[in-house]
Amino acid sequence: MKEESLTENKIYTVNIWKYNSNGLYDYERDNFIISSFKTEFGFFYKDINNKISFSHTLEQDTDKKKYLVTLQKKDDKYILYKRFYTNLPINTKTVNNLLDQIWYVVKTNSIKEKKFTSNFIYEIKKNDIIKIGRMKFLIKDMNIIGKDIKKSIETFIPYEINELSNIKRDENCRICYSNDNSIENNPMISICKCKGSMNLHLECLKKWIKSKLQIKEINNKPGISYIIQQFKCEICKEPYPITIKNNNNYYNLINYNIPVGQNYIILQSLNLNEEKNYPFSIHVLIFIENNYSYIIGRGHENDIRISSISVSRIHSRIYMKDDKFFMEDLGSKFGTLVLAKEPVYLYDGIIYQIGNSLFYYGKEDIKNNNKDDNNFEKNKKSLSSLGEEL
Ligand SMILES: [Zn+2]
Ligand SMILES: [Zn+2]
Repeated sequence: MKEESLTENKIYTVNIWKYNSNGLYDYERDNFIISSFKTEFGFFYKDINNKISFSHTLEQDTDKKKYLVTLQKKDDKYILYKRFYTNLPINTKTVNNLLDQIWYVVKTNSIKEKKFTSNFIYEIKKNDIIKIGRMKFLIKDMNIIGKDIKKSIETFIPYEINELSNIKRDENCRICYSNDNSIENNPMISICKCKGSMNLHLECLKKWIKSKLQIKEINNKPGISYIIQQFKCEICKEPYPITIKNNNNYYNLINYNIPVGQNYIILQSLNLNEEKNYPFSIHVLIFIENNYSYIIGRGHENDIRISSISVSRIHSRIYMKDDKFFMEDLGSKFGTLVLAKEPVYLYDGIIYQIGNSLFYYGKEDIKNNNKDDNNFEKNKKSLSSLGEEL
């Protein structure tokens, strides 16, 4: 806890001026602009130049100015709300449209000097969605020996097939060429965009996936990574769902071993529709004891290696402490984020990211460092009069 001072906590917003970075905020960059706002009820907007402004009234979105987030006070605490927060849970189709949601910025534990470091230590919960660079992961399952697992709201829903009837009887399975649709627990399914012309037996598809699956032991640790380079239809390129629901039965397309009687986390990759061909992966991380950890990054030396340029060489760490799991950032360029679910409270020293804007709440003054930005003086003048300039 910080010492109480006479200055009140304020909201500081930080944003990049010059370019749209696909929802990645570059924490190493110092070409940004900071505004500070009193903590009071109202609405934040972002204009066409990425500038953030505040208003006491809710305004219509225009081409030039879009609503970002609402600030409200409730029981002596401040809360951030999105106006439209209805797109949870997320499914295979919508998982890549989360950039404008509210994300926690996970505490950075790094010797590197950073401009913005969150104080917020993040305890991992089941169903969390984590973002490491551009790569998203679901905490699909977890266990701590002798403890009830805290779940957050269900975020990712399985793909449902309700209408098997649109598959004609005479359509053959693309793998075994049979049209037998009568075997129990082996329905003929059609789960990609080639609806009707790409029919597969569930069991045939599972066998095909199994033949493509690479199983990789994690060096010197009891975890296992399951990797599949192309988890999608070879014709229409639609990614396959991980779980299929049909007539209240759930079927997993990928079989992996769930540890028994151990502390574990199961991470599942969620970059299903990215243009680039990132492999699909499931990581079963077993934690032998407290202080056990797994390091995630682009470098070969990591426990979980992610070969995306948006992931730093050494990016983040998942560790077990006091019979809980935590996430920390190891000084990465684009940070480690966790999708926030309402209500999103403001605590001293917390940072939220929405798109490529940061909302920092605290007493500390953050100094601008915009020497390289020629437009800064001009931009500064156009800042909203409702926000105090730094
Ligand atoms: Zn078949
Ligand atoms: Zn297809």
